Amino acid sequence: MQIQNSIAERWKNIGKSIFSEMSALAQQHNAINLGQGFPDFSGPQEILHSISNQLVHCHNQYSPPQGESLLRVQVAKFIENLAGVTYDPNSEVTITHGATEALFSSVTALVNQGDKVLLFEPAFDLYYQAIANAGGTVVPFSLKAPDISLGSWTLDWSKFEAVCASGIKLAIFNSPHNPTGKVFTEDEILRIASIFAKHGIIAICDEVYENLVYEPFKHFSLSNVAKIRPLVIRISSAGKTFGFTGLRTGWVCAPANITEHIRIVHQATVFCLNPYTQLGLAEILSQTDWLTSYLSSQRKLYQLKRDFLTTTLEKSGYLVSKTEGTFFITANYKNLGGDISDIIYTKQLLITKKIATIPLSSFYQKSPNNFNWVRFAFCKKDETLIAASKLL
Ligand code: PMP
Repeated sequence: MQIQNSIAERWKNIGKSIFSEMSALAQQHNAINLGQGFPDFSGPQEILHSISNQLVHCHNQYSPPQGESLLRVQVAKFIENLAGVTYDPNSEVTITHGATEALFSSVTALVNQGDKVLLFEPAFDLYYQAIANAGGTVVPFSLKAPDISLGSWTLDWSKFEAVCASGIKLAIFNSPHNPTGKVFTEDEILRIASIFAKHGIIAICDEVYENLVYEPFKHFSLSNVAKIRPLVIRISSAGKTFGFTGLRTGWVCAPANITEHIRIVHQATVFCLNPYTQLGLAEILSQTDWLTSYLSSQRKLYQLKRDFLTTTLEKSGYLVSKTEGTFFITANYKNLGGDISDIIYTKQLLITKKIATIPLSSFYQKSPNNFNWVRFAFCKKDETLIAASKLL
């Protein structure tokens, strides 16, 4: 039977995620995994205890599809304390199966066949898949790679204004940005907000790394800009916030008229999440002293890891862009690997040095020419990073 002919057209050209592929190769070659962005150590014990306590004691049947009310209330308080933005927990906050589902449900709720969706490339691969599933058309806008070793990625404003004037319905905007580690400044966000407002562009803001911003940088969100607020969908991840990616819990905050539609897609796909993780997280978010101290020490910890890996990569001959937030460093190998493609370079690095990384071209719809960038994840144990530095 020709099953291949039966596969839905819109999914035929979508391959396996590069992150899972590199992780599988890392395992196969017994390599150190600096590819996929998950910590190789446990999330906080306090969260484990809180969730396991709820697992034993809470009602263990379906939870409300929009999320447990206790968690929605705590999420609204958390965002208000963190970012100074208020959301109504009843009508504007929805708990999702990680940020992945929040993104997928938001795109599905808003994108029609042929709608133009702007992505800031390099961009997280899920965006392309969700847009393809909805029948939308990706309009890529490339961030400019830093020319010198100590810079971060930048925007060409005249090109940006032109692309936004080309009939874009929706943009997916990710800051702190995966994979570049760029944290958009308040000035940049205000300028982007004005351009989006001028053209009525809806913004899905992927802010999963909002709590992983390093000194002296600050996270500023499009949701902080009043004039664009009715057009902003703000997405977070408990997994990224707590360095605990197995939690599979996220939330999407949006004006009630948009939330209503996101909730319909959410209900039709995952229906609801398990109650114990949500109730355990609600308890954790209510412990504000613990929360503030945990997030601050986590930031310091990752900042040290970032500095260690940046120095290692520079000493090894890479040109390293400045990581202001996230778990990632982008590094250019043109002084090391010659003219080979990043796909071949990362495979060679994996086989010869036993280090798994991610080729940056996989974050583009169409790979740029002569592109020599790879992404390293530094959210790993010190011994993992030290072992990698010896191999590099
Ligand atoms: N957005 C970005 C930019 C990410 O890097 C990730 C995870 N790699 C996600 C969303 C998905 O987050 P979650 O694990 O909560 O589904």
